[in-house]
Amino acid sequence: MQFQNTRAFAQQLDAADNLRDYREQFHFPQIAGKQVIYFTGNSLGLQPKIAQAYVDEVMEDWRKLGVEGHFHADKPWWDYHERLAKPLAKVVGALPEEVSVMNTLSVNLHLMLVSFYRPTKKRFKILCEEKAFPSDQYLLNSQVRFHGMDPDEAIVEVKKRKGEHFWRTEDVLAKIGELGEELALVLIGGVNYYNGQAFDMATITKAGKAVGAMVGWDLAHAVGNVTLALHDWDVDFAAWCSYKYMNSGPGNASGVFINKKHLGQDQIPRFEGWWGTKKETRFLMKPVFEPMETADAWQISNPPVLALAPYLASLQLFEEVGMDALVGKRQRIVAYLEFILEEIAKEVGGSFEVITPKDRGCQLSVLLHGQGRSLFDFLMGQGVIADWREPNVMRLAPAPFYCSYEDMYRFGQLLKQGVLRQNK
Ligand SMILES: *Cc1c(COP(=O)(O)O)cnc(C)c1O
Repeated sequence: MQFQNTRAFAQQLDAADNLRDYREQFHFPQIAGKQVIYFTGNSLGLQPKIAQAYVDEVMEDWRKLGVEGHFHADKPWWDYHERLAKPLAKVVGALPEEVSVMNTLSVNLHLMLVSFYRPTKKRFKILCEEKAFPSDQYLLNSQVRFHGMDPDEAIVEVKKRKGEHFWRTEDVLAKIGELGEELALVLIGGVNYYNGQAFDMATITKAGKAVGAMVGWDLAHAVGNVTLALHDWDVDFAAWCSYKYMNSGPGNASGVFINKKHLGQDQIPRFEGWWGTKKETRFLMKPVFEPMETADAWQISNPPVLALAPYLASLQLFEEVGMDALVGKRQRIVAYLEFILEEIAKEVGGSFEVITPKDRGCQLSVLLHGQGRSLFDFLMGQGVIADWREPNVMRLAPAPFYCSYEDMYRFGQLLKQGVLRQNK
């Protein structure tokens, strides 16, 4: 399709968009009385309007039923988390029993490493991407030290090539081959938070498995954003937060995927708590832990029901729309945004370098040349909520659930104003 940088054309794309009405199902922040252009669904997704009712329901059950809500609420609390597993499994391409919702992301990655990073003298290395999200670096480092080893020896990073802004799959595969029998674990962010790159998870997982390593993915920026097939790819484990593209609310609970082949395996170590033991006998309060036969065996505490309520609400929307439709719109709207950036660059005689490779999700990371923070601040003042990363990268993520093509056009016009103003 030949795009045009006009309001009429953008409106035409919106009119043809099957998902256009979903925009009305989210609350948009306002700046100076105007609805913002929201580019930070990669950081905190907007609130679905139905979320409030789900939270109110829990509050009301608590008010009316007290402790009886555990078993007698309309959606009983004791197994509230189980309602999330099925729709989530579809989002990540898993079997429902492979998915659980609990804790928060960094905590869950630690719990996954307890089970799936079991270094031996010979096989102890971890492969990750260079400049991984800080929390991932800290947790890998501390896990290695926990096992009494030196992170400098155990952690190997795949680097970007000089002058390039992305990782090459062939370089990841080469490192895996090089490490071979020393490689205990591959753990990479499926979609990188900084440059927006989507890794070739299927190919990398296959290569990691081929040398006998465990392969896990941090899907913080991937879930609800790109197509995932965790089960079919034979991924060992994965974890993600839900407040980015999943729109579940600030700091909300994390999901985990544990491959079916690891379920019901007694020899896998695990940190255990009472919500991981069999439902049928849990309240007999026996001293023996009998693990659930699902990923719920990794659950330690009873579920944070008030937090899960808006997550469940959001999953209802994912269930309605489906990942295929979301991914379809995401590809078009991101391509349109990229086109707008090119057009505006021509008009102002400058350049906006998109450092995000074509294998990507929703986010475009734009390296600004000759402009900087003041352009970003101008845009924010005009009601564009985007994200700034030092030294001079602007991250733009038009989430397909609630962003419109006209937003992209309007953004282009504001960007042009901002640059021309600076050049004066
Ligand atoms: C957002 C993000 C996190 C956040 O972790 P929390 O434990 O939820 O605070 C971790 N890792 C990556 C790659 C992220 O993008």
